[in-house]
Amino acid sequence: MTFSGKVYALLAGLALAATPAAAAWIPAGLPDADGGDGYLCRRAFLTEEEGARVLGDALQAFPDDGRWCDYAAHVRQRVLEAMGFSPLPDRPELSTVVHSRRTHNGYSVENVAVETLPGYWMTGNLYRPADPRADGAAVLHLHGHTPGPDGAGGWSRHGRFREEYQYSAATLARMGAVVLSVDMAGYGDQLKLVGAEAHRTPASMALQFWNGLRAIDFLADLREVDPARIAVAGFSGGATQGLLLTALDERVAAQASVAMVSAHFFGGCPCESGLPVHRSADHFASNPVFAAMAAPRPLLLVSVGGDWTKNTPQVEYPFVRGIYRRMEAADRAGNIHLPDEGHDFGPSKRQAVYAFLGAALELDAEAVFNEAGEWTEAGVTLEAPPAMRVFNEEHPAPEGAVGDPDAALARLLLTQTTSIP
Ligand SMILES: [Zn+2]
Repeated sequence: MTFSGKVYALLAGLALAATPAAAAWIPAGLPDADGGDGYLCRRAFLTEEEGARVLGDALQAFPDDGRWCDYAAHVRQRVLEAMGFSPLPDRPELSTVVHSRRTHNGYSVENVAVETLPGYWMTGNLYRPADPRADGAAVLHLHGHTPGPDGAGGWSRHGRFREEYQYSAATLARMGAVVLSVDMAGYGDQLKLVGAEAHRTPASMALQFWNGLRAIDFLADLREVDPARIAVAGFSGGATQGLLLTALDERVAAQASVAMVSAHFFGGCPCESGLPVHRSADHFASNPVFAAMAAPRPLLLVSVGGDWTKNTPQVEYPFVRGIYRRMEAADRAGNIHLPDEGHDFGPSKRQAVYAFLGAALELDAEAVFNEAGEWTEAGVTLEAPPAMRVFNEEHPAPEGAVGDPDAALARLLLTQTTSIP
């Protein structure tokens, strides 16, 4: 088998079609970018008016499913190139650490580490329903940026340990999904191993995408998970990760994206906008374009009045729905807009995610309803962060796990490149 044939076989659905030359597209009137050979689009790269105009131009440029699919394939290729993943490295069998199972009301929690690069461990918690089905659903659960554990509130205000993420992951498990809630690169259990600075490099974008691919591999391999029923849910910076993962990996069956998708705001962290994924010499993609690349798979955009998603009902959602309409799937793209709310993952946003994933993954929503038939998180047990840590005195990190993830990533890519016959 040729190398490219081998990659196609390994990817099992990851879209990597060759780009037809005709698929190139750059909207007119873009401002100059501020770095990365002129191709980085950071923070509020466009004004609100420019962002809306670009999406309008895109709807005109891609009037049918054929032209949209050609362009989406083109963007996938450019994004992989921007992250250094062209070709995409092999994905060998994963080494994992799973321990300290706690049993709660209708679900359990374990502490998990997955070696996604040689010597680098993705870390998190695995929430499982008490009575898993043989063909159950799964959710990759991605948190947003937070203060470090040295700040006010300590570990309980940091990353996946925060109560809003515990509520969400546990509730989805109580509804019947296996939920993997992972640390951002350099967060949580990775802090001691690679340091917080590991997050503040452009490589963190590539690393988090790679971690996402390997997280889907991990979930798909679990015996109680049906690989065709794996969804992604993310808030803010976690939603940015989910956008790229869903756009590039067709194994993701549904996506819930909370308070991120904006026509004018591209994300302010290197993990969101530190590599030129949004723009090259022959492509342009604001985050709504990445969101639309999920079509025809179910997609929920949760937006709020108090951040860069404030225009979603008038701007981003009509664009995304327009693309879904071209794919004859307009009813699979939804928007819940909360005009009086700000940038957080509060109860109303979580409830929107429960309702959406409950329907998309055919979960048991009634398992978490109260007697009045309303959503409740009262059955969730909030855990103390020390119990949720995967690496501690009793369970030390595997030997060789301290290091530089950028270097591990570079080593992987170099190995891959030089292994091509
Ligand atoms: Zn980040």
